[in-house]
Amino acid sequence: MSRAYNFSAGPAALPEDVLRQAQTELLEWNGARASVMEISHRSKAFIALAEESERDLRELLDVPANYTVLFLQGGASQHFAQIPMNFARRDQSVDYVLTGDWSEKAAKEAKALTNVRIAATAAVTNYDRIPPREEWDLDPGAAYVHIAANETIRGVEFHEVPDVGNVPLIGDVSSTILSRPLDVSKYALLYAGAQKNIGPSGLVAVIVREDLLERCPKDIPRIFNYAEHAAKNSMLNTPNTWGWYLAGLVFKWMKAQGGLAAMGERNRAKANLLYGYIDNSGYYRNPVERSVRSWMNVPFTLPRAELDEAFLKESNATGLLALKGHRAVGGMRASIYNAMPIEGVQALVDFMRDFAQRNG
Ligand code: PMP
Repeated sequence: MSRAYNFSAGPAALPEDVLRQAQTELLEWNGARASVMEISHRSKAFIALAEESERDLRELLDVPANYTVLFLQGGASQHFAQIPMNFARRDQSVDYVLTGDWSEKAAKEAKALTNVRIAATAAVTNYDRIPPREEWDLDPGAAYVHIAANETIRGVEFHEVPDVGNVPLIGDVSSTILSRPLDVSKYALLYAGAQKNIGPSGLVAVIVREDLLERCPKDIPRIFNYAEHAAKNSMLNTPNTWGWYLAGLVFKWMKAQGGLAAMGERNRAKANLLYGYIDNSGYYRNPVERSVRSWMNVPFTLPRAELDEAFLKESNATGLLALKGHRAVGGMRASIYNAMPIEGVQALVDFMRDFAQRNG
């Protein structure tokens, strides 16, 4: 058995060095005479781990001092609901920009709780673009504006943070966080499910400007209240200690790789290699407008859907895993997060070229 190149959209590949270190430390961590999974989250050693991982994440993303960093649970989906619960005032509506399935889902959850306005949507063109900022119908009195910075299913990414004036901007950055430098100060709140670039699933990073926390209402259950979580340093209840530990290892790995500037260059090169091949192949096709193509998730189709099964079977046998596109769109999707080396993308391109030649 050997590990293959894993193109899963999430839970996704983790850096091999991180997995090896976790393996080495699995039975006994840091002199604790127990696994990191088996010790109290309130122990000195775990609190030190929690603090160090927060410091590393702050350093990687250059998080300004007036932002709180939280390590929570519930998946990004729970935060689709928790965000309006905390920040939509009863007399205000909230603005959502729809650029794919995840921003759609986020808006749908918010609708159960508050008055949602769709400020812009690319649904009519099957989410192949981001509606130009000038065309957004933003309400200057909205409680916040929500975007999904990278749409994992369609592969549509904001390459610049949109200017929404004084209204707080909230971003779902689940599938783009840590892929390159990011100006945190342009957002009031960022949230990301861990299972792409951070660690295993079951952990969500939330980075929130402190003034926004003052809005959290007192009459919602404490467990959903961001201010309560912040006051308790993400230990209002038992956190996902294993996920937090692995995230800490991933942050160290990223720092050793040269931080986000280096990650960004590597990710740009990987994306250019794959899109460049697809566009020139005359065989495969990516439907997304070039200026908003995702660096992390690359969907593509073959000339005939009947070829999909053979493509998947053969690619898998070659050691290229999980290339099946999301069931909502079909075709293929290669997710090329931080842990995917350029050699893996090259191996995919080589396979695609060979497959195209054999099935022209
Ligand atoms: N937002 C984005 C951009 C995602 O890619 C995903 C999951 N792939 C989610 C939200 C939902 O995350 P979860 O399954 O952790 O709730």
